[in-house]
Amino acid sequence: MAQIMIKNLRKDFGSFNAVKSSTFTVEDGEFFMLLGPSGCGKTTTLRMMAGLELPTSGEIYIGGEEVGMKPASQRDIAFVFQMFALYPHMNVGKNISYPLISQGMPRAQVKKKVGEVAEILGITDILNRPVGGLSGGDRQRVALGRAIVRDPKAFLMDEPLGALDAEFREHMSEELRALHDRMGATTVYVTHDQLEAMQMGDKIVVMNHGVVEQFGRPQQIYDWPSTMFVASFLGSPSMNFLNFEGSLASNQATIEMHGVDFAIPALLEGAAGKLAFGVRPEHVRFSDASAYRGEVLATEYLGTTQIITVATPNGDLKSRISAAQPVTVGERVGLEFDPRTITIFDTARGRALL
Ligand code: ATP
Repeated sequence: MAQIMIKNLRKDFGSFNAVKSSTFTVEDGEFFMLLGPSGCGKTTTLRMMAGLELPTSGEIYIGGEEVGMKPASQRDIAFVFQMFALYPHMNVGKNISYPLISQGMPRAQVKKKVGEVAEILGITDILNRPVGGLSGGDRQRVALGRAIVRDPKAFLMDEPLGALDAEFREHMSEELRALHDRMGATTVYVTHDQLEAMQMGDKIVVMNHGVVEQFGRPQQIYDWPSTMFVASFLGSPSMNFLNFEGSLASNQATIEMHGVDFAIPALLEGAAGKLAFGVRPEHVRFSDASAYRGEVLATEYLGTTQIITVATPNGDLKSRISAAQPVTVGERVGLEFDPRTITIFDTARGRALL
């Protein structure tokens, strides 16, 4: 398996700049998510890694070797698409063995490899079945089998579960992650689904408009978003931004909003002007003791929790609290924020002051 390193990677389609100078590293054996909204450039980035698209500039290293201009066939990676295409006239075993036979591997060795892969995927008993009559899940397993049978340096997957219904998707994503944990294969996985990215990924790179906004472990980017885009793309409901104007010194320990002081994590950088106080809904608490008050605008019942929308002097915010806590629309509530989880943003630059 191999490390994949992307350096200042750029892709233009005519005058349109789809990927802007991306730099990140996928470590050997990592399950790495490329996450972002539709059109942000994640598929183009993956296709450049695969060799299906040539970069306009920049470098791609797979296992230490620069492969940016090499054809896909010389990169030793497996690409798994959303729509798993199987050879309909071949049975399961033949579909899986096809890449090995076309490489000229001796029959006995092919049989052994296919047997091993079928064992890993739990499809040994269907090796002789035609692929036509298989369930969706088994078809996915066969397609995966065809990808892993070659022992490539890395797997590149473009929304492989995108076409599945929610329940089956969750089941397959658990299976994929378990398969990865058993094989330890470097995997790059494209998705626009932030929950899927956080559940499955060892690391996530978040892209927007062709730009890498941030990359890191799921909890790191959820807790410490470096841009307002990342803060709002991850989490549901997303992070609240309470707007205020002021001047902050580096190392300042509190900020004042509407006459109330709030503790914040120490800032390395100061800023002045339009700022935003970022707090996740699960870190907003109701407290009669707080002088910072707002009016409840709406309640949304979700079973174990509820989402409460509150109008504050600095804009509306959402709070996620226990469904057992009684709250009524129109009520005035005091608000407290967990100081360890606050992020302050410079709204003009859209960047966190960390
Ligand atoms: P999606 O999830 O919708 O596939 P994405 O983040 O994967 O989105 P890309 O497919 O990488 O985005 O596309 C990034 C941008 O580049 C889009 O605006 C797209 O229209 C454009 N683009 C992609 N391929 C081409 C092409 N061959 N020619 C021109 N523009 C392209």
